[in-house]
Amino acid sequence: MSVETPSDIAAACLRVLWTDRRHFADGMKATAAAISRSHELIAESREALARAATIKLPLNLPETPSGPADRPPICIDCQLPMRYLVSQLDAAHALIRHVLFACDCGRTSCQAVVAET
Ligand SMILES: [Zn+2]
Repeated sequence: MSVETPSDIAAACLRVLWTDRRHFADGMKATAAAISRSHELIAESREALARAATIKLPLNLPETPSGPADRPPICIDCQLPMRYLVSQLDAAHALIRHVLFACDCGRTSCQAVVAET
């Protein structure tokens, strides 16, 4: 039967402390790796967002676009062709132009057409 001396007890405590310290160091290493990984993922996602901003989205445009002069809309109240008022390019899509028509009765109609290049 072995008798534990105070120095044996202290040595056993130190072994436990060193083991715990190793676990702590391993935990710190894993945490640092996770932080580093998250930084890489953030950088990657920023690059992906920058790339996405340059990609032109496919637009479902009519196959035979009609310009404002081609066919003015008919006023639903008067059943008469409306007159061209003003147009401006879409803020997001350079291919789209919003055209505003007006009728003598005061009704207006805004149409989106393919911008002429
Ligand atoms: Zn009208």
